[in-house]
Order: sequence, then structure tokens, then C-alpha cells
Amino acid sequence: MSPVPSALIWDPAVTRYKFRPDHPFNPRRLELSVSLMESLGLLGDGCRVVAPRMATDDELLAVHSAEYVDAVKRFSAGGDRSDAFQWGLGTDDTPIFPGMHEVTALVTGATIRAAELVMSGEVRRAFSICGGLHHAHRDRGSGFCVYSDLAAAIAWIRREHGARVMCIDYDAHHGDGVQGIFYEDPEVLTLSLHESGRYLFPGTGFVDELGEGEGYGYSLNVPLEPFTEDGSWLAIHERLLPEVMEAYRPDVVVLQNGCDGHALDPLTHLRATTRLYEETVRIVCEAADRVCGGRVVATGGGGYSIWQVVPRAWTLVWGALSGQPVPDRIPREWLERWQGEAPELLPELVRDAEGAYPAAPRREEIQAANRRTLEQLRRQALPLIRGWGLGF
Ligand SMILES: [Zn+2]
Repeated sequence: MSPVPSALIWDPAVTRYKFRPDHPFNPRRLELSVSLMESLGLLGDGCRVVAPRMATDDELLAVHSAEYVDAVKRFSAGGDRSDAFQWGLGTDDTPIFPGMHEVTALVTGATIRAAELVMSGEVRRAFSICGGLHHAHRDRGSGFCVYSDLAAAIAWIRREHGARVMCIDYDAHHGDGVQGIFYEDPEVLTLSLHESGRYLFPGTGFVDELGEGEGYGYSLNVPLEPFTEDGSWLAIHERLLPEVMEAYRPDVVVLQNGCDGHALDPLTHLRATTRLYEETVRIVCEAADRVCGGRVVATGGGGYSIWQVVPRAWTLVWGALSGQPVPDRIPREWLERWQGEAPELLPELVRDAEGAYPAAPRREEIQAANRRTLEQLRRQALPLIRGWGLGF
């Protein structure tokens, strides 16, 4: 592994994306993650920190309706909120908070900045750690997401560079917002691996959601069984990802790295370890090196075990993106800095040890069910991807 020119998009100002003190989407996890990267020496040389910028109104309006953006601005400024539910806001999940327009425009701009740096060739990989708001729809907020930074960055890439985009999302929840915005667009392929919508919000992301019109065949979903572990998850990734990328031949990959599929995450039922987040990114980057000049625009996403999981998972994501080996041990100075504030004992290893969590019950059944889902998707979707159809 050798270092790859990379940028981490980060400024503490993005931590103002905060709904209320007890809300699970807690921006503290961003500070903890960047601090762990720093203490491991992963933010030097060709792997630098770059500040975000605000998304412009035009960039937001490329993927959201003017009525929705106007409503967010009004709520953000403390105006009348009697119609908030119509816009998916003011709910328990996605409450209104002062300044929400400005800070979400900054989060959106962070991911567009990542796209600018990658598409201009200044860096090969960029990580917008505060981004990944994959549930925001064209005219509705949802699931902790106000604006879609992912969709706005993809629209920017389409408009400025005319490039084909493959958006890969392995957050534990289905990437419904991004899928919906590009559902009819064959120049944007979305692939989401997530816990099945039968058991988890937002209740979508089944194999037969393949897109519509011109976009039919360019929305791919792998709904995983609850309690899926690294082995089954990675086997699917290894089988499907290079195959789809080589069939579709995108110009750039946009990668959402929600880490809420970890066994300790309080909101989902998947059973990943932190190793999954390193391996998945490695597989994506290797395929991107073969197919699209290594160009990867990465974001964060979900992740609600903020002390135990998120800093380790996203440090491994950053290491794999930037081609820097990540040591196994968490530095003593990091543990000493944060243990006093942590409500639980902080882990000492970046990668979960083998057998760190009890084996899932019914492991073979779960693996078999996931394999069937994968084969169903391959049968239905792969012949639809342009240029495909031989040897299958
Ligand atoms: Zn999630």
C-alpha cells in the first residue's frame, strides 16, 4: 500500500449540524474521528485537510424543489412552521433547528468540494466526513437528512464534467433519497447494500426496485438479512462490486460510508466489525483503480455508537482511501484525551479482534438467504446494464 493524494474535507463548523442534545445523529463523532486520524499521524504529506464551502442555491436547486428549499430557509430563520410536516421536517427524527439551512448548505458544499478536488485531478480520493445524508428527497427531509449532499455532488459532477457516476452506499439503511432523485437517470447508477426494509427504516430497497424509464436497470439493491456478519457481507461485495463496475464503467465513484451496520450500533440489527469498513473501501478503491482512474468521492453517513465504533470505522475508511496503513493500537494519548468524557470504556484496538462479538445465531441460514438475494439481483439487473449480456 502506498499513499494516494487525498483530501479530508473538514472544519469544526460542520458540527453545527445538530438537531438537539439527545438526538442520535451526534456531530461529536466527527471530532472524535478526526482526532483519532490526527493522533495516528494520518493527516500529513499528500493526505491533507481541506475546508468545505457553502453549496450555492443553484447547486441545491439542481436536486431539490424551490418550494422545499424556501421552506427550509423559513424554518431555519425561525419563521412560521405550521406546514413543517408537509416537508418531512419538525418530526422526532428530523426536527427543525436554528440555522439548519446554512449548516446543511455547508455540509452539502463539503461533498461538492470533495467532488471538485477529485474531478480536477488535484487529489484521487476525497472524504467529506460530515456528508452522506442519503435519505433527503427532492421535496422532503427524512431520517436525519435535510438536503442531499450526495445528490447535489452527483448533479455537480454531471453538470460540470458530464461524467457517469456510480454511487455505492453501504450504510445499514437503504439509500432511498439518492435512489429516488436519480431513479430515471441511466448516467447515475446507485447500488445500496443495507439491512432489509422488512425490518428497518425506511422500509424500501428491495431487489425489484430497479429504476424507471431510461433509468431501468440502474438502481441496484441488496437487502441483507438482520444479523449479517462481515463474512457474508464481504462475499457479496467481492462478487457484485467489481462485476457491476466493469459492466457499467463509471467515470467516478461516490461512496457513502455509514457505519451503522456495526454489531454495537444501537439503531440496526446487522453484525459487522470495524474490519468491514476497511475491506469494503479497499475493494471499491481497487475496482476504481482499474475502471475510473481511482477516482472516489467518499462521505460519512449513519453511525450511532459514537465512542466505540465511529472513530475507528472512519479512521479505517480514511486509511483505505488514502492508501495509508492504519496501526492496530489506538494511541494512549487519544484514549487519555477522551476517556474522561466517554460514558463507556473506550476500545484499545482499531480493528475488532477475531471473535470480539458472539457469533450470530443461524449464521448459515443468513448466509444462504443473502446468497439467494444476490443471485436474484444478478439475474434481474445485470442483463439490463448496457453492454452486458454475454457469458452470464
Ligand atoms: Zn443508516
